[in-house]
Amino acid sequence: GFKCGIVGLPNVGKSTLFNALTKTAAAQAANYPFCTIEPNTGEVAVPDSRLQQIAGIAKSKEIIPTRISFVDIAGLVRGASKGEGLGNQFLANIREVDAIVHVLRCFEDDDITHVEGRIDPVADAETVETELMLADLESLERRIVQVRKRATGKEKEAMTVLPVMEQSLALLQDGKPVRMMLDGIAAEDLKILQGLNLLTSKPVLYVCNVAESDAAGGNEHTSAVEAMAEKQGAKTVVISAAIEAEVAQLADEEAKEYLEAIGLEEPGLDRLIRAGYDLLNLITYFTAGPKETRAWTVEKGSKAPQAAGVIHTDFERGFIRAQTIAFNDYVTLGGETAAKEAGKARDEGKEYVVQDGDVLLFKFNT
Ligand code: GDP
Repeated sequence: GFKCGIVGLPNVGKSTLFNALTKTAAAQAANYPFCTIEPNTGEVAVPDSRLQQIAGIAKSKEIIPTRISFVDIAGLVRGASKGEGLGNQFLANIREVDAIVHVLRCFEDDDITHVEGRIDPVADAETVETELMLADLESLERRIVQVRKRATGKEKEAMTVLPVMEQSLALLQDGKPVRMMLDGIAAEDLKILQGLNLLTSKPVLYVCNVAESDAAGGNEHTSAVEAMAEKQGAKTVVISAAIEAEVAQLADEEAKEYLEAIGLEEPGLDRLIRAGYDLLNLITYFTAGPKETRAWTVEKGSKAPQAAGVIHTDFERGFIRAQTIAFNDYVTLGGETAAKEAGKARDEGKEYVVQDGDVLLFKFNT
């Protein structure tokens, strides 16, 4: 599955946030089988109100959301790239995730020590980013020597990989994260870049952890983080980990009242999970019937057979076509039969690029 790694300096609220996520997941476990929770990995349902709408129309007995994982990656301190703290372990853990959720302390509390002795989330972000860039720089400088030699010797593979390595190295030497080259990158280069598995090439989402009183409106620190994120083309989520930990323990009705009382429309975790999903470059398609309405995850740009393969490899191998109804058509027309009558159920073939919200029915050979 797809994984977001939660990183940040000590005492910024990572564990509090992670525990809230896993409590939410634990509460869901009864409804959603196959929810496994390892010590530092939690699988959570991706909240999507379209599921309820489709299920209502299809009169489905069951609703099954799609899921993503969050991994709590502890141990980052200044000097991690040189092996300080849990340095090497920490870096190895980051290599295994698809995207980074970077938690920044935006709450004041004299009882909780800040490792740098002051609240400055933008400086904290730079501290963490610097460690990741140093680790990338070191690993790339080491690896590029051989590749340069092999490229000079006209080895095909080295010749295709080298330009991406050089471009990454140039960014790092300039004090910039490798993800700066993601915008508009060609598909082949992206593959190569992902193969290099650099820490700073992974997409980042900033999470501002604020006090309860700032959960609805943010504060001066969150504004500073938002300004920084905007320059990087990154997204920001403002959340109070302490509130989320509380809400995760409440029953639905109680949680709703509690959130309303502090001016929030939904749990911050829902916003965080959806932002994580976007960050991973994922979209959702649905299958709907009397038995169940279910959400499935594919990467943006996936074609219909690949999407079918998420359900079962046989579906991909024997793919014939996909009956496709756009979510809006499905809902406004009132379901599959009505959509067919209105000519809004398209038969799509192997080259069809699946769109977010498509309601699909696969025809396949067994
Ligand atoms: P980690 O080291 O980043 O995993 O941080 P923790 O989640 O363990 O949190 C460190 C301390 O900060 C704990 O005592 C938390 O209860 C506290 N904490 C976390 N979030 C908040 C918050 O929003 N407000 C306040 N006042 N304390 C918080």
